[in-house]
Amino acid sequence: MANVNTDTLLENNKRYASGEQVHNPVHPGEQPINPAKHVAVVACMDARLDVEDLLGLETGDAHIIRNAGGVITDDAIRCLIISHHLLNTNEIILIHHTRCGMLAFTDDLLKAGLEGDPAAEELLGQATGRKFTSCNHSSSTPAQFHAFRGPLEALDAPCNEQQTERLSWDVRRSISRVMNHPWIPTEGPDASTVRGFIYDVDTGKLEEVSYPGPMGTFG
Ligand SMILES: [Zn+2]
Repeated sequence: MANVNTDTLLENNKRYASGEQVHNPVHPGEQPINPAKHVAVVACMDARLDVEDLLGLETGDAHIIRNAGGVITDDAIRCLIISHHLLNTNEIILIHHTRCGMLAFTDDLLKAGLEGDPAAEELLGQATGRKFTSCNHSSSTPAQFHAFRGPLEALDAPCNEQQTERLSWDVRRSISRVMNHPWIPTEGPDASTVRGFIYDVDTGKLEEVSYPGPMGTFG
């Protein structure tokens, strides 16, 4: 499977982490619609990640799909299908990161807080350092917030072994969802490659997550 652009971007990341500027922010003039590097990135929306900078991507190089957690949601799948089949990308890069906010709550806790449970309100207030104000209404949407599996930790807690493990679980779940989707070919002549990484917000470095492997335990 062709993977050459992903490897080049990983080399760019090493230069970025060592303090070099690898992204040129100047408008390049007219460009084709298809991403020049044939790459699609799915990354967390965290303010500390600048995907173009950390991969040394230029304007026109890649599709960048972002949401809370860099989770492979229905909408991320929709984007990846369009990216590959209509706009000729064939290398998928998934990026989670250390200190992610998705490690610090559960879907049930956030829903209970939004619906008015005082205990949940207090816990969420303590976790975020911001007064959590309930909306006192229930809603069927969003059906899921996709908080990461595993024991809760404080918001923005420094990375340790357990955090790395929890992040790795979710990167593997994301890889699995992409690789097993019937409309995203990862074998055969039209295959895309899929690789997953944890970005360290303190050092600027990407670490690859092995796949397959554990995807989490309950509790
Ligand atoms: Zn995040």
